[in-house]
Amino acid sequence: MNKNLDLIIKNSRVIDPKNNIDEKLDVGIKYGKIYEIAKNIQTSRSPETIDQENKILMPGHIDTHAHLSAVFNDNINSDYGHKMLAESGTTTALDLAGEPDIMVEGMKKNGAGLSVATIMGLVPHKTVNKDDPDNITLRDTIFDVKKRGGIGVKILGGYFPFSVDANSRVIKEANDQLSWVAFHVGSKTAGSDMVGLREVPESTDKGRLHVAHINSYTRGLVNKEEKEVEEAISIIKNMKNQWVTEAYMSKINGTNGLCDENGNLVYNVAQNCLILGGYEPNENGLRKALSEGYGSALTVKNNRNVLVNGDEAVKFWEKSLTNASLSFPVNPPSSAFRLSTEKYENSDDFVIDAISTDGGYIPRNVAIEKTMALVNFGALSLKDAVIKLSYSPSKMLGLENKGHLSEGSDADITIIDPQTNKACMSLVAGKVIMINGKSVSDNGTWLILEEGKSVAEKSGVNFQVINLEKSKLYKSF
Ligand SMILES: [Zn+2]
Repeated sequence: MNKNLDLIIKNSRVIDPKNNIDEKLDVGIKYGKIYEIAKNIQTSRSPETIDQENKILMPGHIDTHAHLSAVFNDNINSDYGHKMLAESGTTTALDLAGEPDIMVEGMKKNGAGLSVATIMGLVPHKTVNKDDPDNITLRDTIFDVKKRGGIGVKILGGYFPFSVDANSRVIKEANDQLSWVAFHVGSKTAGSDMVGLREVPESTDKGRLHVAHINSYTRGLVNKEEKEVEEAISIIKNMKNQWVTEAYMSKINGTNGLCDENGNLVYNVAQNCLILGGYEPNENGLRKALSEGYGSALTVKNNRNVLVNGDEAVKFWEKSLTNASLSFPVNPPSSAFRLSTEKYENSDDFVIDAISTDGGYIPRNVAIEKTMALVNFGALSLKDAVIKLSYSPSKMLGLENKGHLSEGSDADITIIDPQTNKACMSLVAGKVIMINGKSVSDNGTWLILEEGKSVAEKSGVNFQVINLEKSKLYKSF
């Protein structure tokens, strides 16, 4: 037996919930896979050894809600999301409302070594050629996305709402094709809030759905925050075998400040942000909110997207003719806390599957550091943290070789410094992609479905076919 290794990571506290490991161990990597986890692996067996004493080593962070390409916010460079995510410790991401073509171009130009799957946001007259699409249009649109290397679609209810019926049709057509389907809740009759969430069980019918960022519907718009969290949890419990869900823990959200010629805000989410901050939900209210520092605008500095405040934000928003990406501090930490930690009674299973970033090219990639803060606070064990950041997301997506450190699994690893709560190194397929918060890799691996194979082969990027039949979304479907 060939006992030589390509790399050994020594002395870190290895946490692997699937294999019940929580111990100071060495990790041996060969051919991009986990080869051996043991005490004192001889350094002579590998040309390269990295000592990570006093660090925490976990299977790589899988972000089930990130943004690496965009179907709107055209003036933002979404490519930077690759490096921004990698620099926070992520190794795999689901790009949740983009375009496979844009994502893969970004991966070629500004990639960071991440594995990325993309679902396409449904924007009427842009990515789907009807306002309230019928079954045939949806069937063709979803099939086309998969052929172009996407794994499914997302309903953007807070931005481009459909009727409740059309929402049901999207879910059904995607389910019929075993494609991913995510929902930012909202419809022509309900906002992107608790009222919107109440509509979703009926739209789901007997189908399957990824309900995106649960925390966004518990901002206290319809009821008191605590009551909304309570209600959201009870709705999710009722849909236990049909939904997969995630919540993010950043206080700031991401939205768009587009106004029409009458000074009205075009998007429901932006209106809600202003109402929550006590501002008029229109162009004047938005200008005031930005200049007073309540909102911030997304712009580029040193090849990364950053948020700016005050006059700088107002200027940028005006220069973009109001079509600018903005952020507001609208996510109550109490909701994030409860949604991230809630478990089913007498069970170790979490009600909400994963902690996501909803970041990527938006600078709020704080899933790891906020989850570690919950560990330090005592609300989650380290094992729980790894379940929420990696193991459970791997099951959500059906990535059987990720989310754990079993022999032969992908050597995707995130190493966390408990002094700072941040990731200090990460590896994908045994290759270091980030050191001390700096991205040190490029390109990436495009995660596609079988239907996308011929486009992926022509693209020149490394790709991997995934099978959603193995995902929690379609478990026993
Ligand atoms: Zn999002």
